Amino acid sequence: MDPLERFAELAGQRFAAPEMAAEAATRTLKQVLGLTAALVVRPSDAALLVTAASVPSGWGLVAGHAWPRDEGPSLDGQRLLVCADVRQQWPLGARPWVAAFGARAVLGVSLGSAAGAPLGMLIGFDARSRPFEPRAVAVAQALAALLGLHLERLELLRRHAALEQSLAEQRAANERLERMSQTKSDFVSTVSHEFRTPLTTILGNSEMIQDDGVTIEEVREFAVEINKAGQRLKGMIEDMLDLDRMEAGMLNLRRERLDLNALVGEVVAQIRPIASRHAFRLQLDDAMPPLLADRDKLVQVVTNLVSNAIKYSPDGGEIRVVTAREARHARVSVIDQGMGIPPDALDRVFERFTRVETGQTRSIQGTGLGLPIVRQLVRLHGGRVWAASQLGRGSTFHVTLPFDDGVEAAR
Ligand code: ADP
Repeated sequence: MDPLERFAELAGQRFAAPEMAAEAATRTLKQVLGLTAALVVRPSDAALLVTAASVPSGWGLVAGHAWPRDEGPSLDGQRLLVCADVRQQWPLGARPWVAAFGARAVLGVSLGSAAGAPLGMLIGFDARSRPFEPRAVAVAQALAALLGLHLERLELLRRHAALEQSLAEQRAANERLERMSQTKSDFVSTVSHEFRTPLTTILGNSEMIQDDGVTIEEVREFAVEINKAGQRLKGMIEDMLDLDRMEAGMLNLRRERLDLNALVGEVVAQIRPIASRHAFRLQLDDAMPPLLADRDKLVQVVTNLVSNAIKYSPDGGEIRVVTAREARHARVSVIDQGMGIPPDALDRVFERFTRVETGQTRSIQGTGLGLPIVRQLVRLHGGRVWAASQLGRGSTFHVTLPFDDGVEAAR
């Protein structure tokens, strides 16, 4: 191929890495000038790195070889090195990077600089001594300039990618901050809204107690209301503190061997009296082995799910609680026939303070802390919780709890 064609081809390439551009340049230099060897050295930390080498195998030099700075060719300010016979040019002939190969003629051109830092040098060697006529020098210089452009372009692309990366990281951090700030303002608005209701009850009832002429029965009724509202406030504060403690990893489980079916039965028996409009159906797997779990925490998990099933099916219906023994874990599912959850909220409901806002849910009291607590407690047990739902038809919450760390539950 004609040298000009080779140059055109080299100029038109879009190399993916500096090594590839350097490789193409060394090959072209060697072929066009009929040299024994050609290589590209580039500065790297304290060393000079051979980025590409088209050299005879006998030279024992491969790409990746590194010379200490003072043993390789000097890159500082040296733009052109033309030597017809190193034996006649002291001390070049004695320099390790020349002497090691027994090369006679050397032609080196620096690659220019990107942002003030030298890019490296393109070097050709001939085993025989030979004068380098001006045309040969011009070829080497043109090739070096071309390679310099390629290297500069790649360096720019690298910096651009690094910038993009840090921009993306910055953007993600901003989004996280925004989400946190949103959660915080949701928190403030939920807390103030949810706290205000029981507080209003407490304030109203305690004022009425002070009226003249209230009977002792009325005082009792007011006191009952005040107590209920106070309990509700206490519950909310405890929920928030619990969640914080769990998220900070400060809650330890007290595991014991327990019968999951019996626990589910107890929770449902406890709750049943407050859900007169609902029919409960238990489907418990007789083959369920004992679980190693924290009883109080599991009671809380099942209680929260069954309470939600009741709360969010205000028209009543059936609530089914199913246990199933699976290969590595026990599964508990709570299935209701209530209002359901929109698909885009199925994951979100497990986040703090998330409440699905619809006309129907607005009148139902809640804090958006029940499911986050369930999720944390289940995670502490090494399990998983997720929801499935058909809007307007009902929801199902599944919990899996692994049997004792692969040993399977104690029999
Ligand atoms: P809370 O019930 O106190 O609002 P949760 O964290 O227990 O908080 O639930 C979060 C939200 O998930 C609820 O506000 C409700 O919108 C939705 N949700 C939970 N359980 C059900 C269910 N069984 N059916 C329909 N929606 C539910």
